[in-house]
Amino acid sequence: MEPTDFSRLSELLKMPCRIAVVTHSNPDGDAIGSSLAMTHYLKHKGHDARTVVPDDFPEFLKWMPAAGDILIFDNDVKNAERFLLDADLVFCLDFNAPDRVQAMTKTLEQAKGIKILIDHHLDVVHFCDFELSNAATSSTSELVYDFIVNMGDENLLDKNIAEALFVGIVTDTGSFSYACNYEHTFSVVANLMRLGIDAEHIHRLVYDTWSESRIKLLGFCLNEKLTVISNYSTSYIVLSKADLERFNHKIGDTEGVVNYALSIKNVKLAALITERDDFVKISFRSKGTFNVNDFARLHFNGGGHKNASGANVYLPLGEAVKKFVSLLASYSKELMPAHHEV
Ligand code: 5GP
Ligand code: MN
Repeated sequence: MEPTDFSRLSELLKMPCRIAVVTHSNPDGDAIGSSLAMTHYLKHKGHDARTVVPDDFPEFLKWMPAAGDILIFDNDVKNAERFLLDADLVFCLDFNAPDRVQAMTKTLEQAKGIKILIDHHLDVVHFCDFELSNAATSSTSELVYDFIVNMGDENLLDKNIAEALFVGIVTDTGSFSYACNYEHTFSVVANLMRLGIDAEHIHRLVYDTWSESRIKLLGFCLNEKLTVISNYSTSYIVLSKADLERFNHKIGDTEGVVNYALSIKNVKLAALITERDDFVKISFRSKGTFNVNDFARLHFNGGGHKNASGANVYLPLGEAVKKFVSLLASYSKELMPAHHEV
């Protein structure tokens, strides 16, 4: 966004109005964190603001201040639809294309409010009136922090906003292990600390609150469902609906599982392939130069980031797995094991 656009946005936010803050389906820590932070901020400015999400989000994010106020389209279509359609402004956070809100896509496209995109994914689709898109950043939460500062509203930052933004940054960087080689990210986090957050406590709330069945599902994935193809430096885990049911699966229970597959020495590409009700969800992760954004986009109509992407595949589980495995040969040059690699 040009610096002048901030003054135009400042104008738009001068008079109290109704604002929907929307994020992508299957919302993760950054989606919920950035949206709640933005909603707190807009309320401080006197607006009637609400976060609207396409579907439910994991239990480990439900403790966040005002998480209970989030409108979930899946559970309450009428109210979510009304809020979105009546909104004067619509903030689109942490997604780069309208179809990323899945069942809510039509409503988002029908919404007449002025749309403002804040996002860090590659290959942004230009569907908003204002765009703040930067892939060289940790998270949308970091961009929301910058947005508030650029609007001249640093004084409106408070502990609730800081907690939400910290959740977004910590989850999208895997607790500061990827997408965080930026000095700015750490200086934003230092500023969040100054707002009084307890970073260690937040980390425990997000990462150390697993149910027994979730941790057993992880053990099952690693012990019985992990396949390593050394020739292609690839590992993957396949989960059927029956597997998920056996472990009493709840939303968010498979979050992070793919990272274990990637953490194996010499593995450059990892995938978690999960059977859902109407489609197969694949999460891709990579180390180094292998671009899983391109891989997901070219072969599975998905996308995301260079080292973390996803796709919804409309094939039976077995065929989705076959497709993934058979693609590896065409990437043999990039995936071939090399010496001295981690
Ligand atoms: P995850 O595998 O954790 O669901 O997603 C990894 C990254 O890829 C996230 O940044 C997410 O927004 C993005 N992503 C996940 N699924 C899709 C998809 O179906 N399409 C696109 N374009 N991006 C996705
Ligand atoms: Mn994100």
